[in-house]
Amino acid sequence: MEEAARSVLREAQEAIEAAGVDLKALDAVRVGFLGRKGRLTALFKQLGTVAPEARPEAGRILNEAKAQLEQRLAEAIERAKKEARRPKSRVDVTVPGRRPWTGHLHPITQTALDIAAIFNRLGFETVEGPEVELDYYNFEALNIPKDHPARDMQDTFYVSDEVVLRTHTSPLQIRTMERKRPPIKIIAPGKAYRCDSDVTHTPMFHQVEGLMVGRHISFGDLKGVLTIFVQQMFGSDVGLRFRPSFFPFTEPSAEVDIQCVMCRGTGCRVCSQTGWLEILGSGMVDPEVFKMVGYDPDEVSGFAFGMGIERIAMLRYGINDLRLFFENDVRFLRQF
Ligand SMILES: [Zn+2]
Repeated sequence: MEEAARSVLREAQEAIEAAGVDLKALDAVRVGFLGRKGRLTALFKQLGTVAPEARPEAGRILNEAKAQLEQRLAEAIERAKKEARRPKSRVDVTVPGRRPWTGHLHPITQTALDIAAIFNRLGFETVEGPEVELDYYNFEALNIPKDHPARDMQDTFYVSDEVVLRTHTSPLQIRTMERKRPPIKIIAPGKAYRCDSDVTHTPMFHQVEGLMVGRHISFGDLKGVLTIFVQQMFGSDVGLRFRPSFFPFTEPSAEVDIQCVMCRGTGCRVCSQTGWLEILGSGMVDPEVFKMVGYDPDEVSGFAFGMGIERIAMLRYGINDLRLFFENDVRFLRQF
């Protein structure tokens, strides 16, 4: 009997270890050994067949085995319950770390800074101004009076009769000239707004305005400065041309084209087979604008230019859809 009890106890111990912290498996062990049809219970039933004089000793052995088994089961169940209460997702400190994403500048911001940096090296100072602007600075002082047809060229967001969301960064010309006397060399990057939305226009866009004013500033200076800009931005081998144009606040005016960066001038879909891409507008500051800020047009002269930053960024990175810049899809933005 003693041998049988020890054997059952050993098997029970193995079963408990095999069950581990599985509560259901531990319960099965309990039923299998201590239940009504359990292995240990069966030994108790055999007590009747033991000789009467050996029976008390056999009973003591079985009771002791039962007590031991009950205690081991209780301990195992306690461990299993403790395990069940632990948080399910434990940290595995051996797993390699995941690098946090670091942000970087938006391609528009990066391009604006790069454009400004080229002009900064030429001595142009970066200036900023309000996006909610007086009609006076946005139009009037730039030689665009209320009845001027040029106002139709720009679909304006009006805040009130006299206040607009600036339609270009050109008001910075006036604000700067009112503030100081020549010589002036400024570059003004920033947001501008027009009620316009299609494949090539967004209601908010970015512009860089430039202005150089002083004594004897000529169209030659305009060409020189803008040629240096184009060469530094797109490479010194890129051809460029100045094409006559019209702006209310410059006279004469010229648009600047560069050789198509996609086809190198042979003609493609991007340049509509012309081989050229327009990148900016420019011209000599109109004498009427100088009069508005109290400068004497006989004493000073200057030139101004403006360009769309989105356009420059698209040509620079070979992006074909303007809207990509504003959708904030990180899969797009992470490429820069
Ligand atoms: Zn082309």
